[in-house]
Amino acid sequence: MTQFHPLDALRTAPGAKRPRRLRRTEALRDLVRETSLEPSDFVYPLFVVPGANVRLHVSSMPGVEQLSVDRVVGEARELAALGVRAVVLFGIPSAKDPHGLESYADDGIVQQAVVALKDESPELAVMTDVCLCEYTDHGHCGLLGADGDVLNDETLEVLARIAVSHGEAGADVVAPRGMIDGMVGAIRGALDGEGLQRVAILSYAVKYASAFYGPFRDAAECAPQFGDRRGYQMDPPNGREALDEAALDVAEGADMLMVKPALPYLDIVRALRDSFDVPVAAYHVSGEYAMLKAAAAAGYLDERAAVLEALTSIRRAGADIVITYHAKDAARWLQ
Ligand SMILES: [Zn+2]
Repeated sequence: MTQFHPLDALRTAPGAKRPRRLRRTEALRDLVRETSLEPSDFVYPLFVVPGANVRLHVSSMPGVEQLSVDRVVGEARELAALGVRAVVLFGIPSAKDPHGLESYADDGIVQQAVVALKDESPELAVMTDVCLCEYTDHGHCGLLGADGDVLNDETLEVLARIAVSHGEAGADVVAPRGMIDGMVGAIRGALDGEGLQRVAILSYAVKYASAFYGPFRDAAECAPQFGDRRGYQMDPPNGREALDEAALDVAEGADMLMVKPALPYLDIVRALRDSFDVPVAAYHVSGEYAMLKAAAAAGYLDERAAVLEALTSIRRAGADIVITYHAKDAARWLQ
């Protein structure tokens, strides 16, 4: 009796499946690739600061800078040349106060940047961050009650004012970030009431209370001065709750949904993709960026290969849109 050899099945069966056939050449691999990654899938975050000719490096995010409005305009031209056609703006105001007054000022920093971008690069899709944490001196995402808790319904009114002021400046998309209950409905109602029906809403529908936001808080200067954000952001172990949050936002009129962060929550990206028919965005956040940059700088990873693999995995999980600090580099590598 001859002994069974594992290769016998391949050797003896003429019709044996050999998946390697389609991996043999670059052309074949290109032909059967299931997921694409294009510069037009990316949204590049920009941090806008007051002043002129300002370019400040963010130490925890090598390659990311705070830019004045004139520099933001230059950045948009560079992005367009690379095929990146969307940005999301975060503002760092000249002064902070308990109510975040500059957030909805006509001449606020984001409003100025939107006007300048729409003037210089009308074809660019301009998204704006709608939140209070960069504008409040306490660094929380809403107005605070006497007990230090974020007041939900009082905050809605302010978020609606911010969104309207961004829409009036010319923003294409507003992106409420604070996980305040009812924020999408309040913003949609206010936009429509002001004749801003054209402005779309990308809701941070599913935003986890994540450890991966640390470097962003340096870039946006919005670390909470006391407490944390676990009272409004989602608890990381929860998955079903994400579908509940997303369903509420779709019902309130969200045009697009976001999951944040991306890589630790790819199962949630997939769940949203399978459950809703609106575009899904994933935010590859500052900590995810910083990890890859640090590992590459230490020589532990090939930056280009690792970044493109990470971004592709976000697309494969079901994200239509990837918000990433790697957008410029990735677009260059993809050209
Ligand atoms: Zn916030």
